[in-house]
Amino acid sequence: MSNQNEDTISRRRFIATAGLISTAILTRPESLFSQKESPVITIMRAAATAKINVTKLRGNVSVLEGSGGNISVLHGPDGKLMVDAGIGVSRPNVLNALNSLSGDPIKMLINSHWHFDHADGNAWVHEEGATIIAHENTRKHLETTVKVDDWDYTFPPAPRDGLPTVLFKDQHMVDFNGESIQIKKYKPAHTDSDLSIYFPKADVLHVADTLWNSYYPFIDYSTGGNIDGMILAAQANIERTTNKTIVVPGHGEVGNRADLVAFHEMLVTIREKVAKQKKEGKSLEEIVASKPTAAYDAKWGGFVISGATFTYLVYKGV
Ligand SMILES: [Zn+2]
Ligand SMILES: [Zn+2]
Repeated sequence: MSNQNEDTISRRRFIATAGLISTAILTRPESLFSQKESPVITIMRAAATAKINVTKLRGNVSVLEGSGGNISVLHGPDGKLMVDAGIGVSRPNVLNALNSLSGDPIKMLINSHWHFDHADGNAWVHEEGATIIAHENTRKHLETTVKVDDWDYTFPPAPRDGLPTVLFKDQHMVDFNGESIQIKKYKPAHTDSDLSIYFPKADVLHVADTLWNSYYPFIDYSTGGNIDGMILAAQANIERTTNKTIVVPGHGEVGNRADLVAFHEMLVTIREKVAKQKKEGKSLEEIVASKPTAAYDAKWGGFVISGATFTYLVYKGV
């Protein structure tokens, strides 16, 4: 993955040296992504056969990993509440995983944001009996066509059955299975509609895509995300947790406060390095070539977003 990427970049440097640098390079950022095809297609394909791992976290809260973003589940006499639905084609495997926890029916689904790897399964989860709760912008994005340039992909409107029907602006409470679940909207960060979902009894905080644990995060500028908002969200997450809080990221392993601190530090450091060079008038190609993420790539660069791609995502927002 990284070799291919370095090839691309060194070819670019050559082009730049030859004085042929053009805006075409700047307007084709998808070439900075490690895969040749859209990551959406890669992730969708993987989800069809993905094994779903079930881990009990604390109390009746568990996490399902394997279909797109991580799915938190609270089960009990009121039925099951899910945070995110994963990708639709994973339905049989996700259902098996849910049934391994208990036979309670699915009653509620909270969408942490609109992205396909979290909301594509909405329609089948609704068909199973769930009411879908989300921020109003999540519904807005789901019911229209959205082009995400940096994923090189255009999403058609979601099926009507998959649209959230309980909508709110800032925060929302759900009393379910003895938990008073706190749902709060972040300021625009990964998108303009990211939610945190907190289970106070279990002390589990689902932060969704405001944390990619040990991976560089995607930032969706096409629907209102930005690097400074990501940093603010990471800070807010640190402030809301103690050393005992279990933190469920959108991607990567279930973590804790220390993981949030490391993620925040990585974001701030890279942002500063990129912003400084951009202010000095350096081009994107020059900044990528200076490898501002070098010290972090071994830990954070192993998933969909490479160091070069993350540099581009930061550059866009500073
Ligand atoms: Zn995601
Ligand atoms: Zn996302």
